Amino acid sequence: MDGVRRLAVLGSTGSIGRQTLEVIRAFPGRFQVIGLGAGRNLALLAEQIEEFHPKLVSHLLSAHSVSQDAELLSLEQMASHPEVDLVVVATPGGIGLLPTLAAIETKKEILLADKAVLVMAGEMAMTLAKQKEVRILPLDSEHSAIWQCLEGESQEPSRLILTASGGPFRNLPLDELAQVTPEEALKHPVWKMGPLVTIDSATLMNKGMEVIEAHWLFGMPWENIEVIIHPEGIIHSLVEFPDGQIKAVLSPPDMRLPIQYALLYPDRLTAEKFPRLDFRDINCLSFEMTDTQRFPCLEIAVEAGRMGGTYPAVLCAADEMAVELFLSHHIGLLDIAQVVKLTLEHHQPQNNPELGEIMEAYTWAKEYVQNWGLR
Ligand code: MG
Repeated sequence: MDGVRRLAVLGSTGSIGRQTLEVIRAFPGRFQVIGLGAGRNLALLAEQIEEFHPKLVSHLLSAHSVSQDAELLSLEQMASHPEVDLVVVATPGGIGLLPTLAAIETKKEILLADKAVLVMAGEMAMTLAKQKEVRILPLDSEHSAIWQCLEGESQEPSRLILTASGGPFRNLPLDELAQVTPEEALKHPVWKMGPLVTIDSATLMNKGMEVIEAHWLFGMPWENIEVIIHPEGIIHSLVEFPDGQIKAVLSPPDMRLPIQYALLYPDRLTAEKFPRLDFRDINCLSFEMTDTQRFPCLEIAVEAGRMGGTYPAVLCAADEMAVELFLSHHIGLLDIAQVVKLTLEHHQPQNNPELGEIMEAYTWAKEYVQNWGLR
């Protein structure tokens, strides 16, 4: 083996996918892009094909051709292809679940950014990964920070503390929160992300889902995972050990850094163009407790995670649809929590669900919210 890692990027035209390709560009000779999977942004996909010459491509507009040379496959086929060693799952919403399971089944290393995978099927994915001896490495800044804090420790941590920037409406009066427009909500103060994640960050739904992910990734009991607001976005998460000492990871809020950590792990190399922290730019690092009245989605998400079964799949689907309704001006920002809560309340749950039952619950919830949008 020549040490070149052969990878497929699922969601290559999205925010995380594009930044993954930037990291790959910064370390020439280390990676070979075997597959690129996109949704509908064929113009950008064509540019990426031109640059990286993948053997495999995937997109949703199968009537169109973007490459003469690359084979057009489904995401699942690409994720389990024999020439792929490593699969970057950067798809939005629930799209990544089946390809991720297919990749684990065929013993690919997983670099995971799609929240829905562990939220919807955390137990199933982690059990399968253990059985197949496959590593699932997080790309999200918070889970990457926790992973880095845990490296080299032999003791179990006593607490995981996830940081949240609090989004753009942390200090907005509650009565004005109801009037927020999609355009205002899409302007995140710290991170540049896709639309679903940006709105989920403004409601803290994103953080609730990250608690669920942390529970599964690190095997941490629910009561030992906390969330604090840290508006500067410099500390990416913290881990407390039994002696009360805490480790944290600090860096500029730039997704390329956690992506690089996972792609090059265990190496730490310098990418000249990536930013460094300059302490002269930082006046203070501040912390606030979360406000459940302002951010009901955080509690709703964690509760769905604790209840388990098919509830977390319903959480994902209802949230995706509610965010769509908000972005298309059908509901207000505060209604997202209501839509998700009511959908969860109307769900008939299954315990220890099979994959089919998880997908059924996901589809049920999408339809439930869609019909509601029409009401
Ligand atoms: Mg995050």
